[in-house]
Amino acid sequence: MKELLAGKGSSLLAGLAASRVLLAFDFDGTLAPIVDQPDDARMRRTTAKLLGAVCALYPCAVISGRAKADVVDRLQGASVKYVVGNHGLEPGPCLEEYAEEARIAQRLLETALAGQRGVEIESKTYSLAIHYRRAPRKEAARKLISRAVATLPRSMRVVPGKLVVNVVPDGAPNKGDALMQLQAMEGADTAIYVGDDVTDEDVFRLDRPGRLLTIRVGQSSLSSAAYYLRDQRAMDRLLAELVALRKRPPSGPQVDSRSPERAADALDFLRRLWALNHSLEALSGNMTARLGITAQQRLVIRLLGKYPGLPPGRLAALLHLDPGTISATLRRLEAKGLVSRRPDPKDGRRAALQLTSKGSPLDRAAPGTVENAVELLLKETPPEEIAAAQRVLERLTERVRSEVADNLRPHRYTEDRMP
Ligand SMILES: [Mg+2]
Repeated sequence: MKELLAGKGSSLLAGLAASRVLLAFDFDGTLAPIVDQPDDARMRRTTAKLLGAVCALYPCAVISGRAKADVVDRLQGASVKYVVGNHGLEPGPCLEEYAEEARIAQRLLETALAGQRGVEIESKTYSLAIHYRRAPRKEAARKLISRAVATLPRSMRVVPGKLVVNVVPDGAPNKGDALMQLQAMEGADTAIYVGDDVTDEDVFRLDRPGRLLTIRVGQSSLSSAAYYLRDQRAMDRLLAELVALRKRPPSGPQVDSRSPERAADALDFLRRLWALNHSLEALSGNMTARLGITAQQRLVIRLLGKYPGLPPGRLAALLHLDPGTISATLRRLEAKGLVSRRPDPKDGRRAALQLTSKGSPLDRAAPGTVENAVELLLKETPPEEIAAAQRVLERLTERVRSEVADNLRPHRYTEDRMP
């Protein structure tokens, strides 16, 4: 478990902020400090303001153990897109069943715990919370509650918390299930989750490297979270950092193209491009280790599978590469025995490229590849967004090329500036 706001954590946040990310937070102990009376829990004014700002920049969710309506009342106007209560089960299917199971458990526990000082059973309609933070002898109270819940019908799951024992219908969606469902609904490629308690471990345990960043409030050797914040106050720093990573200065048609605002916009855009570049390189490196070919070599194989007999010049044009660059890639693929060239039957002076019997099996969709990520993204993105993104990328490529061409003119640059 590493501290998030130190070392590499910040660059990790920057990469995620540039992705299609869903932010999800627990409430008590995470957005709001733990207080003696659960009913008094509220966010600090600074946290509420920062959460509002974060919600304007990212799709956000609060996934709490409280009843959903109770959490909604505590959000102080922040427009949180998704609010999930009851440890992940509300809203969701089978609520009537869960309510009935919670009612039965409540009746049994009220009898078993009658007269215990400082022990309070809170009904959240679909689950129960047995609080003992006001009990004079907390350890004794906890043991007593454990014994009482052990007598409950097996349809209930017991989740310990901070001076509370939660009793939840067994098999109901937990916080991990809720997060996965929200991520799918939102079409988010990545998610960041912050929590502080045992029920948050249902999220922390999800093993989704690169796609889910898990953060615990407070360090704990027992937690499955990858990162931690030193304390609940550090939430404000995390939220402020998330805002800064996405906040763009206001710009309008009256803004001069060389103004600082435009320069900041350019840096903001560039930052996203580098994040993409970094992810492409990371996945390509991973593909080399697993499949023995880079992402670009694989793209060549897929194109040759689609257009057998393609001459190298046409392939270079399709890939927007110069012929020299594609020759090097082809040499490597030929050396690996994946691609071969023969004289073009229509024009003997030209070479025609094709996949060998060893290369052909690689020409099919496979998980864990760059084109798989692109395919999934295209499937879930409206066509007009794809078209606009393609236009912008093509124009940017042209612009970058003309910068190269302008600065290749020999000597001019240095001569102009020579004393
Ligand atoms: Mg909590």
